[in-house]
Amino acid sequence: MDGLNKSMYDIGSDSAFSILARSQELSKQGKNVINLGIGQPDFPTPPNVVEAAIKALKDGHHGYTSSNGIFELRQAVAQDFYNRNNVEIDPNTILITPGGKSVIFYTMLMFGEAGSEIITPDPGFIAYKSMIDYTGAKAVSLPHRMANNFSFDAEELLSLINEKTKLIILNSPANPTGGVVPEKELEKLAEGLLNFPKVFVLSDEIYSRILFDKKKHHSLMKFPELRSRVIVLDGWSKTYSMTGWRLGFGIFPKNIFDFAEKLAINCHSCVNSASQFAGIEALTGSQDSVNNMILEFEQRRNFLVKELSLIRNVDCKKPGGAFYVFPKLKKNNLSSFEISQYLLEKKYIATVPGSSFGSNGEGFLRISYASSKENLEKFVECLKDFMNE
Ligand code: PLP
Repeated sequence: MDGLNKSMYDIGSDSAFSILARSQELSKQGKNVINLGIGQPDFPTPPNVVEAAIKALKDGHHGYTSSNGIFELRQAVAQDFYNRNNVEIDPNTILITPGGKSVIFYTMLMFGEAGSEIITPDPGFIAYKSMIDYTGAKAVSLPHRMANNFSFDAEELLSLINEKTKLIILNSPANPTGGVVPEKELEKLAEGLLNFPKVFVLSDEIYSRILFDKKKHHSLMKFPELRSRVIVLDGWSKTYSMTGWRLGFGIFPKNIFDFAEKLAINCHSCVNSASQFAGIEALTGSQDSVNNMILEFEQRRNFLVKELSLIRNVDCKKPGGAFYVFPKLKKNNLSSFEISQYLLEKKYIATVPGSSFGSNGEGFLRISYASSKENLEKFVECLKDFMNE
């Protein structure tokens, strides 16, 4: 179309949302669709958090807040980050955003331009590549292989860096694989990055609370020598079942914080104030709901991995976190897109084809187990039938 900025044609979309739209269409037609496609917890937002938002509205918090977020919320984020990572954060380097996704967009706008390179996980969260492409930068794939439990290899990552590299994106636990980067690999990376002092890192830690097998989260922020070039993305969407509240945050190095804030002022002004008050309660109130949700996710993961591994031509690793499994399927040379289409149109089960997360995702399906045990049982039976057909 004439008149449009050419970069508009480079923005990709998120197939989880188009699959959600198709699932809703099928549901309207009376089909009983099991949605294992969308990445949002199937638990309600904890009631104390909802109450805090209602109270904020009744107390008259209807207006703009400061663009970087209300101070008490940034303080609560800093305290929570300290409790979990033993790293002190200045609340003035925290930007409250409408969901974690805005941190991705703003960071790509800050680093991406024609002639620069950004290293991004493959398979990886779709928004990374879409936004890199939009800026004109080159997205350099960092393989996250099944044989490596869907983590990266630090040496391989370091070998991808050259003078054009501006940013590396990390995501652990990961979407779409649930893979967790081992502490040792992170240490190797941190050491290697000392040789590349101009390269920044966006560490997407949105699933950092959803870890299993008593694993502890390791943030790249724990390496003091890297703190001046690490951006952390996290938020409330997954941990507190608050996807629709649009509440996330970025921790930016002091020297670039003002740029991130300017993007925020020009784009979203501030996050709606009731959500911000809810965010304080989420962080400072009881954590029972979160802990129960994680326990439930762990049981579902165990169930799925055990059952899927019993199916012929299905290979499934046990992911360390998030709420996805990423099994590899072999069926008559069908692509992951064709398998996902078949499951949706014929069996009314929504999944996301692995190929939509990058070329290394071909042959895999992303299954979100943010769904009831009964739905997961039905899915296993359907997949068994399909694979044996
Ligand atoms: N990062 C990853 C890896 C995600 O999976 C998601 C959501 O699916 C986000 C960021 C964005 O989360 P939000 O809904 O808070 O924007």
